[in-house]
Amino acid sequence: MLRFEDILDAVERYHPKADEDLLRRAYIYSAHAHRDQLRSSGEPYLVHPIGVAMILAELKLDEVSIATGLLHDVLEDTHTTKEELAALFGGEVAELVDGVTKIGKYAYTSREAQQAETFRKMLLAMTSDVRVILVKLADRLHNMRTLEHLREDKRRTIAAETLEIYAPLANRLGMGRMKGDLEDLSFKYLYPEEYASLTAAVDERMRASAAAVERLRQELLAKAAEAGIDAEVSGRVKRYWSIRQKLIRQSIPLDQLYDVLAFRVLVDSVRDCYTVLGVVHQAWRPVPGRFKDYLAMPKQNFYQSLHTTVVPEGAPPFEVQIRTREMDIVAEQGIAAHWKYKEGRLDPKVDEARIAALRQILETTKDVANPREFLSSLKMDLFPEDVYTFSPKGKVLSFPRGATPVDFAYRIHTDVGHHCVGARLNGRLVPLKTPLKNGDIVEVLTAPNAQPSRDWLSFVATSRARNKIRAFLNTKEKEKSTEIGRRLLERELKKARKSLGKLIEARAFDPLLPELGVARMEDLFAEVGYGKVAPRLVVARLFPAAEPPGPERSPGRADAIRKAVRKILPIGSPGIRVRGEHDLLATLATCCRPVPGEEIVGYVTRGRGVSVHATACPNVRNLLFDPSREIEVEWQSSRDASFTVDLEVDAEDRPGILAKVTQVLSAANSNIEALEVRTRRGDAALITGSVTVPDRKHLDKLLAAIRGVAGVTGVRRKFNVSRLSGE
Ligand code: MN
Repeated sequence: MLRFEDILDAVERYHPKADEDLLRRAYIYSAHAHRDQLRSSGEPYLVHPIGVAMILAELKLDEVSIATGLLHDVLEDTHTTKEELAALFGGEVAELVDGVTKIGKYAYTSREAQQAETFRKMLLAMTSDVRVILVKLADRLHNMRTLEHLREDKRRTIAAETLEIYAPLANRLGMGRMKGDLEDLSFKYLYPEEYASLTAAVDERMRASAAAVERLRQELLAKAAEAGIDAEVSGRVKRYWSIRQKLIRQSIPLDQLYDVLAFRVLVDSVRDCYTVLGVVHQAWRPVPGRFKDYLAMPKQNFYQSLHTTVVPEGAPPFEVQIRTREMDIVAEQGIAAHWKYKEGRLDPKVDEARIAALRQILETTKDVANPREFLSSLKMDLFPEDVYTFSPKGKVLSFPRGATPVDFAYRIHTDVGHHCVGARLNGRLVPLKTPLKNGDIVEVLTAPNAQPSRDWLSFVATSRARNKIRAFLNTKEKEKSTEIGRRLLERELKKARKSLGKLIEARAFDPLLPELGVARMEDLFAEVGYGKVAPRLVVARLFPAAEPPGPERSPGRADAIRKAVRKILPIGSPGIRVRGEHDLLATLATCCRPVPGEEIVGYVTRGRGVSVHATACPNVRNLLFDPSREIEVEWQSSRDASFTVDLEVDAEDRPGILAKVTQVLSAANSNIEALEVRTRRGDAALITGSVTVPDRKHLDKLLAAIRGVAGVTGVRRKFNVSRLSGE
């Protein structure tokens, strides 16, 4: 059994000045935290973290990675907190252990290949430090090595996940040996019988040709030496899993597979590589089309090597791989080779170079069908512009950064988007505009009567959601405008004592429609509703001789119209209050944000119904240049409703002033939606904020209370003239 001292020995061999104290403390802490736990094998749990740390030490990683390996399961399985780890071992170790723990939480379930690809990308995107992935891979490798102790069904699940997620991840990071180990172990547990027969057959074939292999190896060495090159030659067998895949791909039996046997020649320089290649091609006949130069064109993950297949006299062909010793380390360890401990690494340029190397490794990976798409997706991983989220059923969905639950809802289905009223992120209710984060589990809440709100357009991030919302609003607006236009025309005709219904029956509009450039009555209504055609003009065209109607005087009729409009646009009835979001009150003008008790006036907008302003709003005078679009409105009793008001407070710039204002606000039971303090010239401060109040009376009390705070010199409502609403 491995002991901690074995790890220390291994680390000291490549890093004599390693922080032994850190490693020892990590070991003791882990031993204590896991003291009562056992592995499925019955061994003490500590065997696992030590095994993981050893794998990391074999990769020659820095001591922070190795300490992380020792501690990687304490957050998951014991009462330890991240803060505690940070205090004891530093922020770096705490972050890394936390990262490894998070990856473990996202169980991968889907069977779809596409889902596996997205999942792997998500893991990379979530990881700001590649060492998290390295420790996770070491963790997985150790678990795979000890898989025999688990139940049959668990073995299969873990092996399948390893094959679909972790082996390709290791491959993407260029870690050839890790990938091979993970694949072969998965093979063993996923297809036990096939594994047994294939390994037996391959081993038998190697045994049978052992003498021939050794002869060829000596011959290669001798020929290299003749050319004056110091080479290392090893005969190697292809990995079992990749042999199996190749046999399936080519539909051939094992004895027809040429490159089960391959020689690897390691030399000192690139020039030596090509010299050895020439030597090999002189000695044996090369198989046409089998030569590959991955020196000039690095393959993937930085992999560099020369490959060729040659046919010796009276023997089966074999492959020769020629590369430098340095290239060989990269081929075996990939990204880990770049994270290796190196003497005097404190140079910041090394980190830069490492990031550049990582970028290049990822960008040159070509293991998918569409390289260009893959390239762009990898860029997103590195410059994380994407967020990866989960549906409650565990499906991974990716979005551009800044996407919200509304984008998520529209991704699921248009109807889910149209009817969404709220969302839970990781079980907690959040506002619809909350940006999604990596790893969020998103649950969309819908209501049958809910509808998209124009506000959504200000925060959705996907074009799909934007287009769907726009399409919905346009249809709604057309309907509303048609209805409003009909009412406006009706009102104008009544002034001239005419009935719209009777005129339509008499087809009185027919000659007028083409003149006004519309085809149907509905379109005329819509034009009037949108404000493109004045109702007065329509009447004047219909009855050119009639006297121009006088100003509207009959309160009864105005009332009828107001009621009619209210019927289609339920002004002042905040009945649809969606989980604290006053959705319907969006028809309240956002420039002045009137509250109940305040004098208000309605304005028929172009296509967006009625917008309600405070009479005191500076915009109203500008808007109401067209009196025919003015509409009377009134407050209805609105229990439980709350209204947002923007405030500005002038104060002396003294410590604690914001806290005092906040106290007054919360003492008055007002919700604070935003509060910000800015220092002005001299010793003056300006506090701006948004609070919610039920009505005018409450607001007045609130303003008085703020005025009473020591240090406050003035307080007022804030009108947002720039956010002019109505048009
Ligand atoms: Mn573990």
